[in-house]
Amino acid sequence: MRSRYDVVVVGGGHNGLVAASYLARAGRSVLVLERRDEVGGAAVSEAPFAGVDARLSRYAYLVSLLPHQIVRELGLAFETRRRRISSYTPVPGTYDGLLIDSTDAERTRASLARVTGDDETFEAWQAFQVRTARLARVMFPALLEPLASPADLRARLGDDATWEALVERPLGEAVEAAFGDDLVRGVVMTDALIGTFASAHDPALRQNRCFLYHVIGNGTGDWDVPVGGMGALTDALAAQCGAELAVGQEVVSIDADDRGAVVRTETATVSCDAVVAACAPAVLDRLLGVEGDPLPEGAQLKVNMLLARLPRLRDGAVRPEDAFAGTFHVNEGYAQLEAAYAAADAGRLPSPLPCEVYCHSLTDPSILGSKLRAHTLTLFALHTPARLFDHGRAAVTREALDAALASLNSVLGEPIEDCLLRTPDGAPCLEVKSPLDLEDELALPRGNIFHRDLAWPFAEHEDDVGRWGTETELPTVHLGGAGARRGGGVSGIPGRNAAMAVVRRRDRIQRRSSA
Ligand SMILES: Cc1cc2nc3c(=O)[nH]c(=O)nc-3n(C[C@H](O)[C@H](O)[C@H](O)COP(=O)(O)OP(=O)(O)OC[C@H]3O[C@@H](n4cnc5c(N)ncnc54)[C@H](O)[C@@H]3O)c2cc1C
Repeated sequence: MRSRYDVVVVGGGHNGLVAASYLARAGRSVLVLERRDEVGGAAVSEAPFAGVDARLSRYAYLVSLLPHQIVRELGLAFETRRRRISSYTPVPGTYDGLLIDSTDAERTRASLARVTGDDETFEAWQAFQVRTARLARVMFPALLEPLASPADLRARLGDDATWEALVERPLGEAVEAAFGDDLVRGVVMTDALIGTFASAHDPALRQNRCFLYHVIGNGTGDWDVPVGGMGALTDALAAQCGAELAVGQEVVSIDADDRGAVVRTETATVSCDAVVAACAPAVLDRLLGVEGDPLPEGAQLKVNMLLARLPRLRDGAVRPEDAFAGTFHVNEGYAQLEAAYAAADAGRLPSPLPCEVYCHSLTDPSILGSKLRAHTLTLFALHTPARLFDHGRAAVTREALDAALASLNSVLGEPIEDCLLRTPDGAPCLEVKSPLDLEDELALPRGNIFHRDLAWPFAEHEDDVGRWGTETELPTVHLGGAGARRGGGVSGIPGRNAAMAVVRRRDRIQRRSSA
């Protein structure tokens, strides 16, 4: 490590690596400082079960928001694979379920008709998808451009009714107007609640913002499987990065002014012209010694499992290989989601706990060792805010895990515990991460997987039009992680945008001094 670089990137998550890559390509000397022993942040593959050769996407697991443009521009050796099945949702308390097959519209039509008892829901489903697709085609390319005004994007969309329904009014209204069936409403609503603690009618519209980011990815909203696991993206980024990567280096302070910054770790002091803070905004505030916004909060529980075999379903009409290949929704009916939100907001663990499950190895078995006969299963439970874990953390985590497994078991033909693979020592291959665990492991404030609530992907103030959404109060410090405007999720977008902002500023300064 030298004592001076053009740019220091704080945090070696995938966004920090993207920012560093673009800056190095623009000829800057770049140092990335990462507190963990490996880069990647939440985009890593790890083998959590001793003696079992399976490298799981331990935190983030599906890719939608990473623009093909970034993969192309950086020449990343990284591939994603489309999931044949979009989702399967058992109807709680029955032997039936709703299958959305992304490659077979007739199968989807038949399933919707059977579950809802009418033919119109399929038409409504398609019409809703047309609206979100229209939004995606306008919104997604704009994420890599300087910020547009909402009026500009609305004009580009040319569909005022869709804009009002999805951007201006609480999403619950649009979902209730479009669908009569509770289960179908719930399946649509889950896209608005991943990593977001909100009700369908939240006037702050956090659910709308979350929904937007879940339906616009690469202009389709498809959530694809990272081949080789999420760590394959980080490996591809690190392989071409061109910056110096220093792991085990926690940044403890940043002193910055209009001309540059000094970044300190426990063992090093580095000066630079610019800082890209690819850590969470609350972390940046602490490092700068300023008082920031109130801490955000995460609200999800993640459970990683390895199975000796897929569990039997109650629904004899669907094969487990189909049901678990897509997103398997558990107790995520619309009324269940609202009740779960209300319970958690009142300080109680929801019962049943809404969750969703997905099996990576059905689409991409390459993450399993060649001799291992197993399947991965990842479970993501909603509406488990960090505040529930503040007192008696270990006991509440255990209780939340039990609630998640009970919820899953309530829709299966056999208990999931009977299907778990065991390590050579006989321990079940299962681990749980509460929001507080995520905070400890990844420095996500209160376990918020998007660093803070997702922001609208446009300028909310006139002054911000034409900026990159990465700016802070200090001209030499940019946010380059998920907490920047248009960040959140595995996308690389805020990393690229921060690099663009730093390069543009430097170019402006150079032009001014040579004029
Ligand atoms: C459990 C889980 C599941 C998710 N699932 C998905 C999914 O399937 N698809 C999806 O698109 N998104 C998903 N997300 C969200 C997504 O992973 C994140 O929004 C995204 O990875 C953030 O990337 P980042 O590079 O901005 O930040 P991070 O990945 O959070 O990386 C920030 C890095 O900064 C480091 N850091 C923090 N403070 C310091 C410091 N003081 N000094 C040095 N280093 C520091 C951290 O250690 C970390 O490595 C998930 C997140 C989690 C946690």
